[in-house]
Order: sequence, then C-alpha cells, then structure tokens
Amino acid sequence: MTERETLQHRMFASAEDRGLFELARTQACDYMDGVRDQPVFPGPAALAGLAGFDEALPEGPCEPSAMLRQLHELGSPATTASTGGRYFGLVVGGVFPPVVAAKWLADAWDQCAALHASSPVASKLEAVCERWLMDLLGLPPGCVAGLVGGTSTATAVGLAAARHELLRRQGWDVNADGLFGAPPIRVVIGAEAHGTVFKALALLGLGRERVERVPVDGQGRMIAAAMPALDERTLVFAQAGNVNTGAFDPFGEICDRAAAAGAWVHVDGAFGLWAAASPRLRHLVKGAERADSWSVDAHKTLNAPYECGIILCRHPQATVAAMQNTGAYIVFSEQRDGMLYTPEMSRRGRGIELWATLKTLGRAGVAELVEGLCDRARQASGLLKDAGFRILNDVVFNQVLVACGTREQTLATMESLQASGECWCGGSSWQGETAIRLSVCSWATTAQDIERTVAAFVKARD
Ligand SMILES: *Cc1c(COP(=O)(O)O)cnc(C)c1O
Repeated sequence: MTERETLQHRMFASAEDRGLFELARTQACDYMDGVRDQPVFPGPAALAGLAGFDEALPEGPCEPSAMLRQLHELGSPATTASTGGRYFGLVVGGVFPPVVAAKWLADAWDQCAALHASSPVASKLEAVCERWLMDLLGLPPGCVAGLVGGTSTATAVGLAAARHELLRRQGWDVNADGLFGAPPIRVVIGAEAHGTVFKALALLGLGRERVERVPVDGQGRMIAAAMPALDERTLVFAQAGNVNTGAFDPFGEICDRAAAAGAWVHVDGAFGLWAAASPRLRHLVKGAERADSWSVDAHKTLNAPYECGIILCRHPQATVAAMQNTGAYIVFSEQRDGMLYTPEMSRRGRGIELWATLKTLGRAGVAELVEGLCDRARQASGLLKDAGFRILNDVVFNQVLVACGTREQTLATMESLQASGECWCGGSSWQGETAIRLSVCSWATTAQDIERTVAAFVKARD
C-alpha cells in the first residue's frame, strides 16, 4: 500500500478538502430552500429511488463527493418534509436553521458527553441548559436534568428514580437486591396514559398489567376524584398533553393527594410541559411543578433537533442512585458529569443543540413558538368546522382530531390527503371514533399553510 492509498491519508485529505463541506452546505441549503414546495410525503418515484441504496457492501473506498451526491440525490427527495410547515404527523417538530448551523459546528467537535473529563464544553452547556429549563418551566431550583434520546427513555429514568426512592424509604435497596422479595410498589395511572409509560413499567419490572387505572373524562383527563387511596408505596403517572386531544390532567388535585400520602408523581409532558413556558398557556400545567419528576421532549414542541429527551427530577440523589455506574477508569469531577443522570454512558452532546435552541429563542421566543402552534391549531379547527368537518376534541393546545360524517369517509379522506403531498396527517381513534389527527408542531407552519391544508382536506373529502 502506498502512502497515498492509506485510510489516514485519504481522510486527512478529505478534511482539508473544503470543497466537500461546501458541497454539503450547498446541498443542505438547496434542501432548506425547496422543502416548503416538496411533496410532504415522498411520491412513488422518490420512494422507488431508494432502491439505489441496495448495493452490495463496497469492496473499496468511494470518492467522498460521490458518496455525498448519492445521499442527496436519493435521500433528500425521500424525506418527509417535516421542516416544511405542512407535516402534522406524530408530534414532530421542525428545526431552526440557526440551530442546524450550531449542530454542524458541534458535529465537527464530535464530543462524548459522558463526563466533564470527556468534554468540558458539553458538560458546561448541559449545566446551563439545566438551569435555564428550571427557570423556563417554573420548576424548583435544585432539580436535576438528564439528557436522553427521548421521552420514552426519560420516563424510564423517572420511573427508575421513583422505584429506587420509594423502596429506599421502605428500607429496601433495589440496586443491590433487585425487585424479588421487595415491598410491592403500586402504580396509579390514567386510562389514557401513553404507550411508552407501559413500556417503562415493563422494562423496570413493575409490569404493564399490575396498574390501577383511573377513569378519564371526555378529553382523556384523569378524574382525580376517582383515584384510589394513595400511600407511600404509590407511584402516580400524570400527563401533560394527551397525544390525541392535547388535554392536561388536573395536576393540582393529583399532587395534593400524592403529597398528603407520600406518593411519587411523575408527569409525562413529552410535548405539553412546554405550556409552562407561555404566560398565556401556563394555566394548563398549574400544579405540575409540585410533582417529583417530569419527562419532556425538546425535539417536539421546542423544535430542537432529534434526539433530545429530558428527565427532570426533584430528587437528585434518587436519580444518581438509580443510574449508578462505576469503573476504575471513570473520573468524576466537581463539574457536571452528564452520565450520572442517564442510562447511557457515551452520548452525543445533545446539550449543545438544546443550548443553541434556547439561546436563539430566549424566553420570549419560546413563548411565541408555543403560542403560535396553539393559534395555528385553533385556526385549523375553526376552518375545518366551517368546511363541515367534525372536531372531536376541545382544542386547548396543538392537537386537532378531525372526522367526516362516517368512519369510511374519514378513512378515505385521510388516504387521499396523505397521497396528495399537500400535507400529511396520521390516523387515530378517539373514544370509539375514527379520526384524522392533526398535530401542529413546527415553527414553520404559517397561517397560509393552515389555509392550504384545510383546502387539501376539503379536496380530499370531495
Ligand atoms: C412522543 C411522546 C412520548 C414518547 O416520546 P419519544 O421522544 O418518542 O420517546 C411519550 N409520551 C407522550 C405524551 C408523547 O407525546
């Protein structure tokens, strides 16, 4: 092998080749320029193009610019245009261009955010985000934040901290002795809890089925008066933002009952907890600040890049104990060591993008963002109702459930809507009714986007 053919030689040459980065920049800018006009879900030709990736593993190196060209030519048209303003599926946010720019820089850093010793800057920015989040969300100072992949993981961490602490108070060390023979923990949960809560219960040995379900009202809110008696062995799951209706549980009543009994309250606030950042919408989460732990996604309502889930917990010791990990080579510091609060050890520097998002928006920008999503959702529900659609929920946040006269018409309308490329909404069912679910979750959605979307609904139905 000559020196020119070695991997190191080629990679150093690629790093020096600014043209490669200029190419990536041009491709990304072209994508951002065109995304608002691209079909919101890729059409048949773009999907068929993905077969171009079905190559055998290359035997040798590829010219770097050819690799990038293939990615752009086949990949860009086969994206969902989730940053384009008319994607309303899942509860998927967009991303702010300035944050993409910050992420590019951080990508070049390629930091491991496990420890201060592995990345001082990632450690510092996590610490700053932790402080800013408590302030923004109205949570008590002294809480800790762990940055994980998403709310699924965040909820599992909250549950692990709760399990550890409730059992510790009973004189049982779950880290050392596990759950076999432990005093039983009760789980009280709203009948409308998110599926990921059940996944966390299964993962942590508490069981999907051994829960006490609390009935909900027509919007999916837990009926606090129907909760069973709580005690110091009980974990209560409440929800800020139902995935169908956007409804919020009555946190004040739930937290009062839990505090009197010594129970632990975890709030699944994946997209809804951000209501706390808006003076106009804060009333929706009133009382949630008295819970013990909260999970929330920055990649949803806040429009930070994936993956940015956050576990917030009022009991730092319980969190650290539940996430305990040691090794002779692990050097903890006096600074923030992010792995103390997460199941992962090596992690991307998610705090960098979270910091960039909060720094770009500021307090007023976050409030404007969250309020804008709710205004657009209300606009959509009003226009859809005027056009003869039925709206199945009270639109209190960013979720709108839409139905036609019959189930068949609703399904046919959704199918035609998804194929139109004009916008994209998924399906759901709500208390026995089939619905089209419209989640307004991107900063990029304008009033004109909503008008165009409603026109697409009408065309799809008619
Ligand atoms: C999205 C969502 C989750 C899961 O979050 P991920 O980030 O996808 O893991 C949990 N609960 C609610 C209410 C959600 O909306």
